[in-house]
Amino acid sequence: MSGHSLSTICVQGGWRPKNGDPRQLPIVQSTTFKYDSGELMAKLFDLEASGYFYSRLQNPTCDSVAAKIAALEGGTAAMLTSSGQAANFFAVFNIANAGDHVIALSTIYGGTYNLFAVTMKKMGIEFTFLSPDCSTEELEAAFRPNTKALFGETIANPALNVLDIERFAKAAHAHGVPLIVDNTFATPVNCRPFEWGADIVTHSTTKYMDGHGCAVGGCIVDSGNFDWTVHAEKFPGLTTPDESYHGLVYTERFGLSGAYITKATAQLMRDLGSAQSPQSAYLLNLGLESLHLRMAQHCANALALAQFLQKHPAVSWVRYPGLEDDPEYDRARKYLSRGSCGVISFGLKAGRQAAQDFMQKLTIAAIETHVADARSCCLHPASTTHRQLSDEELVACGIAPELVRLSCGIESAEDLIADVAQALDAIAA
Ligand SMILES: *Cc1c(COP(=O)(O)O)cnc(C)c1O
Repeated sequence: MSGHSLSTICVQGGWRPKNGDPRQLPIVQSTTFKYDSGELMAKLFDLEASGYFYSRLQNPTCDSVAAKIAALEGGTAAMLTSSGQAANFFAVFNIANAGDHVIALSTIYGGTYNLFAVTMKKMGIEFTFLSPDCSTEELEAAFRPNTKALFGETIANPALNVLDIERFAKAAHAHGVPLIVDNTFATPVNCRPFEWGADIVTHSTTKYMDGHGCAVGGCIVDSGNFDWTVHAEKFPGLTTPDESYHGLVYTERFGLSGAYITKATAQLMRDLGSAQSPQSAYLLNLGLESLHLRMAQHCANALALAQFLQKHPAVSWVRYPGLEDDPEYDRARKYLSRGSCGVISFGLKAGRQAAQDFMQKLTIAAIETHVADARSCCLHPASTTHRQLSDEELVACGIAPELVRLSCGIESAEDLIADVAQALDAIAA
C-alpha cells in the first residue's frame, strides 16, 4: 500500500486478497498449522523459513492487521499483542534487561507508570521519570551508561501533554538509544511519530483503533531506522548470537527493518505468550477501516465542547490541546496539525461533589473508566481511579479534585453540548 494516503490504508491496508480469496479479512481461528514434513516445520522453528506453526507466536489474521498498522505508521514491521500493557512491556523488555536503566516521562498513563515503576523494577530494570518540561540539564543528567531507551506518549493520558518528539528523539539519539512513543491517543491519523524521529511506536489498540470498546489489544511498530549495530555493545540481544536459535544474530539475519520485531516475536511471544486472538484482530481491523473518519469527528466534537465549556460560568478551567490558550497549543499545532484526540478535561467551580453530581445528570456520556470510544464517556478520577488519594495528594499528581475527564464520542456535537448544558443547569438549580 506504499504511496497511498492514510485513508486508503485504513480501509484496504494489510489484507490484500488474491484471485478467489475472501474480500474481508479471514479469521484464521486455528492454534496450529499443518506441514507435509518434519523438515519443513523444523526450518520454521529455526527461523530459516517464514511461515506459521503456532498461534502463540504468529497468526495470519493478526499479521495482516499488524501490517496495516505498520503501513499507517510508516514502519517496517509490527506485531499485535494481547493488550496495550503487553505492548509497552515487550517494547521495553525487548532491549532492556536486569541491570539496565530506562528514562520515561512522568506524565505517562498510570498503568504504564506502574508497570515500569513497580513490576519492571522488580525485574531489575530501573526507571527515571522526567517531567515533559524538564530542562536540558535535567534531561542530559538522566542518561546513564546503562540507559537503553527513552519512553513517552504523543498525547499523555489523561494529562493531555503533547510530547516534543523532536527534542526527546534528538536527546535519545545523542546517547545511542531509541525513542519509544506510545501513540495511542493521537493514532497515526493525527500523528506519525517516526516522521519526527521516534524509533519505535506502541499502541493500546483498545482505544481509538478499535474504537467501539469491543476488544482489548496492543501493537508494537518498528521504524527500522534505529541502527542497533552502531551501538552493538548496548544491545547485545539484537547484535550477538541467540543460542535458543542456534546462534542466529537478529540484526545480521533480518536487517534493521526486521531485527527488533522478529526478536520480540521469537523470544518474548514464545516465552511470555501475550498474543492477540485472531477474533480480536478481526474486530480491530473493522475499527481501523473507519479510523480516519472517526478521529476527525472525535476531534471536532471535543473542540466544540471545549469551546462551549470555556465560556460557561460554572466551569473554572478547561484543558484541550486544540484550544488556542491551552499550554500545549503550540506543540499541538506542530505535531498534531490534523487534530489531537477526543479527550478533554475540565474543572467545576463548585468542586469535587459537584463534579460527581454533574456526571450523574449526563444522559449521553456514560460513567466508565474507558476512553476513546465511539460512545462518549466520562470519569471523575478523584472518586474512582485516584480515590485513595487526599485532595493535597491529588493536586500533587496533577489531578484536581474537581476534574472531570470527558472522552467525546462520535455522536453529534450539538447533542453533546446540549446534554452537558442541561447537566450543568441541573446541578446549579
Ligand atoms: C489504555 C492505555 C494503555 C494500556 O492499554 P490496555 O490495552 O488497557 O492494556 C497504555 N497506554 C495508553 C496511553 C493508554 O491509554
